[in-house]
Amino acid sequence: MSSKIKISLAWQMMIGLALGIVVGALVDSSFAQTWLQPLGDLFIRLIRMVVVPLVLATIIAGAAGISDTSKLGRVAVKVLLVYAVTTGIAVACGLLFAGIIQPGMGLDLSTEGLQAKEVVAPPLVKTLLAIVPINPMQAMAEGSMLQIIFFAVIFGFALSGLGERGKPVLHFFEIVGDVMIRVTHMVMLYAPIGVFGLISFTVSRHGLAVLLPLGALILTAFLATVVFVGMILLPLVRIATGIPIMTFLKGIFEPWLVAFTTCSSAAALPANLNAARKLGSTKAISSFSIPLGNTINMNGTAIYMGVCSIFAAEVYGLPLTMADQLTIVLMGVLAAVGTAGVPGAGLIMTTIIFTQVGIPLEAVALIAGVDRILDMIRTSINVVGDVAAAVIVTKMEGDLNSEPYVEGAD
Ligand code: ASP
Repeated sequence: MSSKIKISLAWQMMIGLALGIVVGALVDSSFAQTWLQPLGDLFIRLIRMVVVPLVLATIIAGAAGISDTSKLGRVAVKVLLVYAVTTGIAVACGLLFAGIIQPGMGLDLSTEGLQAKEVVAPPLVKTLLAIVPINPMQAMAEGSMLQIIFFAVIFGFALSGLGERGKPVLHFFEIVGDVMIRVTHMVMLYAPIGVFGLISFTVSRHGLAVLLPLGALILTAFLATVVFVGMILLPLVRIATGIPIMTFLKGIFEPWLVAFTTCSSAAALPANLNAARKLGSTKAISSFSIPLGNTINMNGTAIYMGVCSIFAAEVYGLPLTMADQLTIVLMGVLAAVGTAGVPGAGLIMTTIIFTQVGIPLEAVALIAGVDRILDMIRTSINVVGDVAAAVIVTKMEGDLNSEPYVEGAD
């Protein structure tokens, strides 16, 4: 007789996380780099392998699946509106909290010992133009997510216009999406070990000694995030959709954990698609809005932009006027949209804002020391914001499903 104790994947990942923290605190960083980091890198590579075909197939099928083109346009407008509003509030929340806590005050201003990274902020117009791929195949080969999304939305839109004749192609992309989700399930079996590798490496590398001087920055980002989620996002979901907060939190647990440990929204995309379905979003709306939000809706990164701008201005003794703060909100939204869902991308994007309001780019090097921790906080909120937007828009369309979703049922 075999008696198997089944521990759910989420718990296995939590165990990986806890063990990773303990082991990371015990081993030295060169050991961690040689032996533990590859375990985590393997996980990130496996999961990123899934992302391009998954995003392409789900967005095409999602856009084409909303066969009524006026509905597609309406859903797109609503999704973008929810993204813009929540992201704007998120930057403002970051600014407000950093204004109250003043994380940069009393900090050692010297950047000695920190390597200033060579960072160049891409000009805004160029960034916007670059969304249109010259060659969609090249965009896929290079994994340029915004370009892939742009192409997929147009392709899906055109496909839906073909009506019956387009159905075989629509089915093809639906099946490709389903296959990639199955691949993801296989990859996720490795997640607990991957999480262990990632966390133990991070802890051994950024021991408490490195964290303490920048603790105020981390604390501010953390508090601003908690308040944003607790006072804005969760009440918004509750009021707009009627989903109980505990149900929502339970639903987003898995993508949250993947995002928190990998610092990559792209890695959490498959789990996020599943979470949106479990919480009642339809296949059509979630397949459209989740991959889109994965790349352009970054609430956590937006909060971080606000907090870092105030922190850096304080460290360098620069007073920020009201106009500067408004610029930060606007640029913060754009920078968050342009941030790729991979570890550390937000740090590079802060340069867009810093350049705009005259903060020295050396501040980036200062923040870089603790960016992994900040990245864990912001990435987890990036993915939660996407699920929130998906269920809100599904409810606005009157399509929210109250029946429990059974995976693979459609
Ligand atoms: N790591 C974040 C993400 O994947 C992006 C960022 O660095 O802000 O969502």
